[in-house]
Amino acid sequence: MAANNSNPNNPTTNDEAVINEVIKTKTKRRGRRAADPNKEDNKGDSNVNKQGQDVNVDDQCGNCKSKVKDTDKAVACEICEVWFHTKYEEIPDEVYEFMVKGNQLFWCCTHCRFGCVKLHNRMGKIEKSQTEIVKRQVSLEAMVSGVKEEICKGQDRNKEIDQQQNQLSSMQQALSHTVQEVKDSLMANQGTHKELEERLGHMEAKSVKVCETVEKNEENTQELQGKVGVLEAKMLNVEEKSVQHDNCPEHGRVGNGPQPVAVGAVLRTDTVLTEIYDMKRRECNLYERGESQSEWSGGEVEAE
Ligand SMILES: [Zn+2]
Ligand SMILES: [Zn+2]
Repeated sequence: MAANNSNPNNPTTNDEAVINEVIKTKTKRRGRRAADPNKEDNKGDSNVNKQGQDVNVDDQCGNCKSKVKDTDKAVACEICEVWFHTKYEEIPDEVYEFMVKGNQLFWCCTHCRFGCVKLHNRMGKIEKSQTEIVKRQVSLEAMVSGVKEEICKGQDRNKEIDQQQNQLSSMQQALSHTVQEVKDSLMANQGTHKELEERLGHMEAKSVKVCETVEKNEENTQELQGKVGVLEAKMLNVEEKSVQHDNCPEHGRVGNGPQPVAVGAVLRTDTVLTEIYDMKRRECNLYERGESQSEWSGGEVEAE
């Protein structure tokens, strides 16, 4: 037996010390009949007559409710730890002696035995439910890993969204700058537009003046054209007269004598005509006296 083979005062290992302590405790929970086997009290029957006494619950027999003495044949249930006199639990003396000496046997009372059956059935149900729980745990772990993956993907997406948001922010800043530039240029254009409108107004006023001047010029031109027409008519008359005045004014002869070159293309004034007349008259007189080398024909003299 383990209790007999081991020496509690000289434990070889820590584990053995623990085991010995347990055995020592269990030994206390069983009757000490082996300590003094020749004593009459070891029969234990006398405790039945002591019912009604003030007995500590820890020392009460689970069946007869009397105090379990150290000298009684009694064992404590391993489960409920209640003492029982061996005769109520129908434990043979040989078994009892073996239990007291060896401590290797696990014993439980009748109540706990029925309870063990119930416990066994309950444990079966618990095992079934535990199996279901394990299955659900496995599926939940799979779900959790899936959720973790989704979270990782979501974090990646969040990073991408952050990057896109940063890009959008920089684009927004650039757009703000551009909008400000456009506003500035619009203001400048409005100033230029005002200047252009003012210049346009000035130019329109100038244009009105120019139109008025043009109208006046046209009127002047018409007047000048009228004057030119009159002068041209006068010139034609003068030229006709000058052709007539190529003849000698005194005799009416036509001579081929020298013509005053300057007179030919120039508008002949009265003074010039007078000079021409004088010259022609002289030439014609020279011809009449036979002193002119030019020839004359026609006229009054020829007719005489
Ligand atoms: Zn009893
Ligand atoms: Zn029990």
